[in-house]
Amino acid sequence: MPSSERWLLRDVLLAGERLDCRLRDGVVAELAPGLTAADGDQILEAAGGSLLPGLADHHLHLRATAAARRSIDLEGRPLSTLTAADGDGLLRVIGAADALARGQLDEMFGDRPVRVQHRSGAVWTLNSAALALLPAELSEKERRTGQFWRSSGRLRALTPSADHAALAEISAELASYGVTHVTDATPDGDPAALNVEQHVLSLAADGTGPRKIILSDHLDLDYGALVSDILDARERGRAVAVHAVSAASLAVLLAAFAETDVRIGDRVEHAAVCSDAAAERLAELGLPVVTQPSLYARHGEGYRRETEPEERELLWRYGGLLALGVRVAVSSDAPYGDLDPWHTIAAAATALPGGERVEPRVSFASLLTEPTDPAGAPRIVRVGREANLCVLADSVSETLDRVLASDQPRVVATFIRGRLSHPRSGRVAPGAHER
Ligand SMILES: [Zn+2]
Repeated sequence: MPSSERWLLRDVLLAGERLDCRLRDGVVAELAPGLTAADGDQILEAAGGSLLPGLADHHLHLRATAAARRSIDLEGRPLSTLTAADGDGLLRVIGAADALARGQLDEMFGDRPVRVQHRSGAVWTLNSAALALLPAELSEKERRTGQFWRSSGRLRALTPSADHAALAEISAELASYGVTHVTDATPDGDPAALNVEQHVLSLAADGTGPRKIILSDHLDLDYGALVSDILDARERGRAVAVHAVSAASLAVLLAAFAETDVRIGDRVEHAAVCSDAAAERLAELGLPVVTQPSLYARHGEGYRRETEPEERELLWRYGGLLALGVRVAVSSDAPYGDLDPWHTIAAAATALPGGERVEPRVSFASLLTEPTDPAGAPRIVRVGREANLCVLADSVSETLDRVLASDQPRVVATFIRGRLSHPRSGRVAPGAHER
């Protein structure tokens, strides 16, 4: 259903020109100077602030981000530092530094069900009380260790039911940053349950985006299974988004793509250890990389510790990949990285390994692209297009200067499908006001 909201955005800055913008039926209906308000129009005085396409987060996990808001985050500290664990319901702890086993959790928590996630996001450990709540079939090893590798989907029965409210909070927070599109990179689960105002491209088995394939960096890499997963996605008319974090997994992936060919929409998630040779091959194949500067900003020290010295130079490259001709887009990977895209821009400019520095304009441009083509051309605001828009109080360069100075950018309003999603109150401030 198209939006019934009617808006006149007065005095916006668009491509260097100051114009008015009319929204009708969910689309940009008019762009011209001196438009007059019609009956029933709500008016936003932008006072020369920039009008932009809404931002896109090209890789995050909505449910996990919502659940993280209902969890205790150790932020990379050992579990022994946990203090605020009062109560008796299922305790959900994330960001643990150590690899844990069921027995340790039994000792610490007794009968209280608890699930603890390693900060890599790759493994959950459950104590005996939590295992008892799980309807899923367990392997002998899972029962013994309490460890579940890359299987958040199977643990979904333990997710708190407050998810709906938590998802709405995440949606509002994203809108407050100007985000109108998200790509949910969770490989399983029901995309229809991702109930947010933003447009959602899902990489899940039942999703509509490229099919997410996780390449293990912990277990033996199965080349044959990877090739058949890619071909299976092809048969279903889908591109693939392949998670490759280690040098070995990236090498195996590049070999597989040589066999299956690359199709439009294929992408590599993370490429967290990437040599020059691998980057040159990525560039040759035209394969975009979706990277997460805020992950390195948050966890870089741990990543360096866990990486062989000769590979430390190759960690979480972004500027280095661009220089070698690789197409790269940024994203949050929330909840593991920072949900705020403006923090991602700052991290790319100041906190990359090896002193790499990517201009804010460059990382910002990749937040304006189509979710289906994350390293492609930025979307543009044009008459007839759906009104997924962000209005800033300042120009883009002033806004990016604020971000570099660690000030919050001033997002005046965010529209999704022509509806005001931010601010929630319907009152537009600061830097603009309603009449
Ligand atoms: Zn992810």
